[in-house]
Amino acid sequence: MLDLIESVPENKAIFESIIITNSKIKNPCYKNIVCSISGGADSDIILDLISKIDTENKVKYIFFNTGIEYQATKNHLMFLEKKYGIKIIEIKAKIPVPLCCKKYGETFLSKQISEWIMRLQKHSFRWEYGTFEELYKKYPKCKAALRWWCNNWPKTKKGSESSYNIEYNRYLKEFMHENPPNFKISNKCCHYAKKVLAESYKLQNKIDLSITGIRKAEGGARQRAYKTCFSSDVDGTDEYRPIFWYKKKDTELYKKYYSVQNSECYSKYGLDRTGCACCPYGANYEKELEAAEKYEPKLYKAAMSIFQNSYEYTKMYHEFCEMKKAENGEKHE
Ligand code: SF4
Repeated sequence: MLDLIESVPENKAIFESIIITNSKIKNPCYKNIVCSISGGADSDIILDLISKIDTENKVKYIFFNTGIEYQATKNHLMFLEKKYGIKIIEIKAKIPVPLCCKKYGETFLSKQISEWIMRLQKHSFRWEYGTFEELYKKYPKCKAALRWWCNNWPKTKKGSESSYNIEYNRYLKEFMHENPPNFKISNKCCHYAKKVLAESYKLQNKIDLSITGIRKAEGGARQRAYKTCFSSDVDGTDEYRPIFWYKKKDTELYKKYYSVQNSECYSKYGLDRTGCACCPYGANYEKELEAAEKYEPKLYKAAMSIFQNSYEYTKMYHEFCEMKKAENGEKHE
């Protein structure tokens, strides 16, 4: 440990992550520690960091295979096992993404939006205009989703649109009113391919500390849910996020200084994220599709078949936005 501290690069975030990770892993109160490995760039840093500290092999590594993973990710996991002399336990989805989308519906735009739409579809909502009070009378069992549709959540303190309102996504309401979705939309795949597995793994293995690679600077709902790098007793398990405070420059420095090698999703395919291949939630899913078509054609075919409706609907929505912006004389982004 002393060697590690003496040789650490001059960087506050990296230095502190080493000190705190050491104190967490060496803490005798933690007997069962697990670290989620995704095969992504941040997860590569976490694994490298832990491997420098965990000399007693206290930490177990797990990978959730959602059923739509890049071969490059799977290859990278094998590379990591060899490089660090560890075993990464693969946990298969309770319901894999392809099956889940078929059964419950495809994902569209974001987890939250898919949730609201799923609820409204369940109540045969007709994507109609009306005040919240009027629609709530007609559809009394989906209050929260109607609040989204009717922009019923208050604005933020700074006066901007609440992300719980449909207006947060410009022209989405007009688009859906004019083009009601003719396929099922749902956010269930994250639930069955990741969430329930993580929960049952923690329970079954009596995990007392769970380590993940979430970074605050990444933004997004998942990051916004956390204020700091540590949360105690989340459903019986403490959670620690070693690189929570890392900015992009810190991750780049770490990677260079400690010669961390990322998967070919980055180095060959030119992607800036991994995870489920070509997930429609990803802002750059079209770029991912291009890469998959070129490097992993079977995966490309699978994604096109699983998310076909969502891709088409998303494309229609983006075209609708462009048309509206042009009509309203708004600047092209
Ligand atoms: S990341 Fe996307 S494809 Fe993967 S489980 Fe979640 S919604 Fe489904």
